[in-house]
This record gives sequence, C-alpha cells and structure tokens, in this order.
Amino acid sequence: MASKLFDLSGRVALVTGGNGGIGLGMAQGMADAGATIMVAGRNAEKNAAAVKTLQASGAQAASVEVDVTDPDSCAAMVAATQKQFGRVDCLVNNAGTSIRKQPQDYDLAEWHTVMNTNLTSAMVCSQAVYPLMKAQGGGKIVMIGSMMSIFGASYAAPYSSSKGAIVQLGKSLACSWALDNIQVNTVLPGWIDTELTQRAREQVDGLHQRVLDRSPTGRWGKPDDHAGIAVFLASPASDFVTGTAIPVDGGFSIMV
Ligand code: NDP
Repeated sequence: MASKLFDLSGRVALVTGGNGGIGLGMAQGMADAGATIMVAGRNAEKNAAAVKTLQASGAQAASVEVDVTDPDSCAAMVAATQKQFGRVDCLVNNAGTSIRKQPQDYDLAEWHTVMNTNLTSAMVCSQAVYPLMKAQGGGKIVMIGSMMSIFGASYAAPYSSSKGAIVQLGKSLACSWALDNIQVNTVLPGWIDTELTQRAREQVDGLHQRVLDRSPTGRWGKPDDHAGIAVFLASPASDFVTGTAIPVDGGFSIMV
C-alpha cells in the first residue's frame, strides 16, 4: 500500500500570492499530492490563469481576490475558502514585495508597505485561520522567509527586517499553537527566478552573476524547486516538525 505520509488528498491549501512565482510552484506541488488549492492574490487575471493551470493538471482549484495588507480582506479570504471548500488545512503566507533603496532614502510609507505586505499580513492571515484550524483538530502554516532572513543587503532594510521577523513570528505561533496540533514552519527560498527577482536583477548591478558564483549548485532556482518542501510541510510527514526555518536555496547559505 502506498505511504500516506505525503498524501494531501482531502486537504485544502490556501496560498497567498499563489497566482505566480514561488506561491504557484508550491500550490502545484501540493495539488500534485492531492490537495485542493485556493489561490489568493490581488490580480484577478493572474488568479484565473493560475487556477486554469492547476485545473489542467487535474487539481481542484479556485481563486479569491485579496489584498493581504487589509485585515478585512484577509478575513474574507479565509471565509471564502471555508465556504467553497469547507476547511483550510494549510495556509501558505507567501505574498510579498520589496522596495529597493539605500536605507536613508526610504520614506515611512514605503517601510510600512513592505512590512505590512510581508510580515503583518502573515500575522493577520494566521489569526484569521486559527479558529478554523483549531476547530478542525489541526493544521499547517507555512511562512516564506528569504536569504534575507539570514543575511543583510544594502538595498533591503525593510525587506530583510520583515523576513528576519517572520522567522521569529513563525516560532512564536508554533509555540502557542502546538497543542492545537498546528505546525508552523518557515521556508527560506534562495534566489528564485520570478517577477520579484526579475525586477531585482534590473535594479541591483551584478546580482545575477553573483548568485551564480556563490551557489554550489551553480544556478538560480525555479518556482517548482519549492514544490517538495510545500508537500512536506503540508503533509503528515511533518507532524513533529514545528518552528523551523528551512533553507531551500541550492546551497547558497552554506558556501562562503
Ligand atoms: P512574485 O512577484 O512572483 O510573487 C509575489 C506574489 O505576492 C504575487 O502573487 C502577488 O500577487 C502577491 N502579492 C504581493 N502583494 C500582495 C498584496 N498586497 N495582497 C495580495 N497578494 C500580494 O514573487 P516571488 O514568487 O518571488 O515571491 C513570493 C514570496 O517569496 C515573497 O514573499 C518573496 O519575498 C519570497 N521570496 C522570493 C525569493 C526569490 O528569489 N524570488 C527569495 C526569497 C523569498 P498579485 O500579483 O496578485 O499582487
């Protein structure tokens, strides 16, 4: 009989920013393992295209429009998922953004945009899903950190602050909700080829080559490099794994 350790049949995964990039790579991995997917993003066209892609692979999927910087919108996103699919077994707090400048050049609105999108939203969405997961008897929450959870960069003061803090948020939620059978873990992606990093490569001189030179694997990551970790962290295979921060970076963080 096939192992059920990585089986997501009957489970519902809600992925913020699931309409492209790493979020869609994770969503596709979980869908391939049997999960039903709710794609949550701002852009309705991207949402619809992602749902089409997931459905074409045989998955059950739908989308909901959300602005994760708006707490009411986050609550409505969770309610819509519950209404459509009856439950939420896994929440992936993946939506994120960056504004790249030297620290002295940020205005406070830019700081808050990055912090609200990357960090506060993860708290708000986790709070919104908690009563449902508790009532269901458990659940999985996946945070998305970054190499900037470990390292700094001259052009990333708010981004690195948000990504450092999300690891600590994940640990605290993991402590609070362990007895509710909710595991909370953070993935630290390396340098992955997405819309976000296409902009980074335009804005940061030499970034593309620096990543190639520094990575033992000698390549940029692809969104589907995150399919496996998503399945692991959403599945029974990770039921005794909580509060961790797991690099999925082709070795970027282990080579000087
Ligand atoms: P993308 O730009 O492809 O994806 C970002 C996603 O976030 C989009 O789906 C976007 O949806 C969504 N999003 C942004 N702001 C909001 C908002 N206010 N409300 C709802 N959704 C929002 O980039 P990535 O796939 O690279 O990024 C995904 C995550 O991975 C981010 O948290 C990022 O920081 C992190 N990461 C990425 C790395 C990389 O190398 N690419 C490395 C480390 C971490 P929409 O278009 O609909 O607004």
